[in-house]
Amino acid sequence: MVDTRLIDGKARAAGLRAAVAAAAAALKAQHGIVPGLCAVLVGEDPASQVYVRSKGKATIEAGLASFEHKLPASASEAELLALIARLNADDTVDGILVQLPLPPQINPQRVIDAIAPAKDVDGFHPENVGRLWSGSTSLVPCTPYGCLMLLREAIPSLAGAEAVVLGRSNIVGKPMAALLLGESCTVTVAHSKSHDLPAIARRADILIAAVSKPELVRGDWIKPGAVVIDVGINRVATADGKSRLVGDVAFEEAQGIAGAITPVPGGVGPMTIACLLRNTLLAACRRRGLTEPSI
Ligand code: NAP
Repeated sequence: MVDTRLIDGKARAAGLRAAVAAAAAALKAQHGIVPGLCAVLVGEDPASQVYVRSKGKATIEAGLASFEHKLPASASEAELLALIARLNADDTVDGILVQLPLPPQINPQRVIDAIAPAKDVDGFHPENVGRLWSGSTSLVPCTPYGCLMLLREAIPSLAGAEAVVLGRSNIVGKPMAALLLGESCTVTVAHSKSHDLPAIARRADILIAAVSKPELVRGDWIKPGAVVIDVGINRVATADGKSRLVGDVAFEEAQGIAGAITPVPGGVGPMTIACLLRNTLLAACRRRGLTEPSI
């Protein structure tokens, strides 16, 4: 029986947000620069509206400038691309975030491709993707970078560790694999076509679950002592007719087996917005050739 430690993403994210705020204050005092993050929302998707609102609030709390552009659900791809071109050219905007998903008439990849790589704080532009995989400085996708920050604290040396990433999306799984490879882990990426997922997962010293499937990862998939990062956020119905959030890992079953695990909520989730603020600050410094803070 292992004594499972809880990885407190909420506390780590609060620390990172405070570090961003301190660095932003110094940037303003020394150079008169206030990094600006612009969120673009197309349509009325309620979840997206909540995300954009909480991102805006966190941006202002960190002392950064927050801008928002809303387009109707009927907006054409050309309209959105024209807006992005304006934001690319706007010197007060350091980070551009287009909230996904987009309405069906808009091709999301064409939109991502249009964002200036230097302002691509989501890290989804092909130039940033290529830089990440080739080990160059880039803007790194926020959720996997948040996972890496939590891992670095949980495990003193990542080099040589056997890491298994469940999920291969462009947003989480693939960049997570690139980051772990960058830390000299031995990385396996598994997905819906992989054979015998439990056996693959059991190899992991570090298990990243990002499959969008509530509690897919069972206790007996976990190697005793492994560090488990649960990226999943799934809303499931409860017996009393209400709902609750669960991760992609059966949290209760992991107790006593995992060496450490992130809870849902309160694990990876809070790190994502904190890393977005960090990226905006880094983008503001890099664009102007200023020394970037090491946060
Ligand atoms: P996604 O785009 O739906 O990708 C899911 C991945 O899991 C795919 O690669 C899919 O494989 C794989 N998969 C699905 N079912 C599987 C199965 N039964 N066995 C093995 N692999 C399976 O999801 P995502 O955007 O990467 O997000 C993953 C989870 O993280 C979601 O729950 C999402 O809500 C959460 N999330 C959280 C944050 C945060 O801030 N905490 C941010 C982003 C996402 P195929 O490629 O073969 O289809």
